[in-house]
Amino acid sequence: MAEQPKPAALRAVKGMNDILAPESARWEWFEAKVRSLMARYGYVNVRTPIVEPTALFVRGIGEVTDIVEKEMYSFEDAMNGDKLTLRPEATAGIVRAMVEHNALYNGPLRVWTMGAVFRHERPQKGRYRQFHQIDVEALSFAGPDVDAEQILMCRALWRELGLVEGRDLRLELNSLGQPAERAAHRAALIAHFEQHADALDEDARRRLLSNPLRILDSKNPSMQPSIEAAPKLIDFLGAASLAHLNAVRAVLDAAGLAYRINPRLVRGMDYYNLTVFEWVTDKLGSQGTVCGGGRYDGLFEQLGGKPTPAVGWGMGIERLLLLVEAVGVPTPVSTPDAYAIVPSADAMAAAMIACEALRAAGTAVVMHAAGADGWGSMKSQFKRADASGARYALIFGADELARGEVAIKPLRDATAAQRCVALAEAAHWAADLRIA
Ligand code: ATP
Ligand code: MG
Repeated sequence: MAEQPKPAALRAVKGMNDILAPESARWEWFEAKVRSLMARYGYVNVRTPIVEPTALFVRGIGEVTDIVEKEMYSFEDAMNGDKLTLRPEATAGIVRAMVEHNALYNGPLRVWTMGAVFRHERPQKGRYRQFHQIDVEALSFAGPDVDAEQILMCRALWRELGLVEGRDLRLELNSLGQPAERAAHRAALIAHFEQHADALDEDARRRLLSNPLRILDSKNPSMQPSIEAAPKLIDFLGAASLAHLNAVRAVLDAAGLAYRINPRLVRGMDYYNLTVFEWVTDKLGSQGTVCGGGRYDGLFEQLGGKPTPAVGWGMGIERLLLLVEAVGVPTPVSTPDAYAIVPSADAMAAAMIACEALRAAGTAVVMHAAGADGWGSMKSQFKRADASGARYALIFGADELARGEVAIKPLRDATAAQRCVALAEAAHWAADLRIA
């Protein structure tokens, strides 16, 4: 009989990453810090679907944006032909959910979520097709106080992660004003770019009349001089918009947080107004924006809801962890407290019961498992115990078990002696195995 060819191994989709140990420990470390931060600022967790109607993003993010024009994973539901999209960001889905469930009925809400988002971009370091975001939204809050609070919240997170603002990250701030102010600026912007028509690339030419503000967000180096020279939106702001910006600035100044006003900062979605901000780093090449956000007072109405002021930010977890790594912040590795050595199959059940009791008491125990060729020698089991990083080996030898005991051998402290303890009293000594 002819031999079957070996099936080819499959690979992950380009730009979509597996996150395996030990890298996953860094993710867990980060996620625990984020959860704690959210709780301390009174943000509650929400989770919305990864797949949404395509129209949500077209209406929410804006038709003439990089995301909607070229980065969305959109498809038709094979069952019913519905037009669907893998979410490229989280805000539009959260706003949809709030409107759909009338979730702000009882008053404003601070919410956050964490999860995968999808954009069809050219994969490179810090830029992927599936990546993960922390997303934070304060809904039905109009004042500049909440804008400032959200920016300070980012700073608190940097500090807890071991990042230093000024050295590793810096804050850029701008105001996009209100629609009427943007309309006046828009006319000036079109006039400016019409004069520099030969400097415009294809995207910019196409967007000149539909969405000229987008041109300011271009990453094309050859366009930077004409972008630099363009009229600044900040010069078109009225008293109320300036007062809002100044109130945010006053809090940042009082909190000793340095920032730069960047009049070119427009963000990649059309929904923003008033405050916009980005946290940028020089340590990740051209993928320098780690976190961005701002106010989006018009989005609820645009998505069919009641007028509702709101402000939020999104952070790319991959980029942030790359930065943490680049700066050399050590991440705690998670290791078990103990590793159970099972010298023979006869000891298996007793060892298993003892491990259960220890785990119920809060101790992390990895029990040696039989391989295809049995339990393996004591030597090979000790090798595994050592590699696991456990501080103790628990030896379930026949003599010890006959006495109702187990031997505890310290693996990381050569001066500490081995001792025997009663299995029936596991609840008493379990705590001795954990780091105080
Ligand atoms: P960029 O200008 O680098 O394309 P962006 O302005 O498109 O970023 P946002 O839409 O504001 O990014 O998303 C928030 C955060 O998500 C970014 O600050 C960044 O950290 C992260 N991010 C955006 N696109 C990607 C991607 N393709 N891969 C990994 N992280 C990303
Ligand atoms: Mg982008």
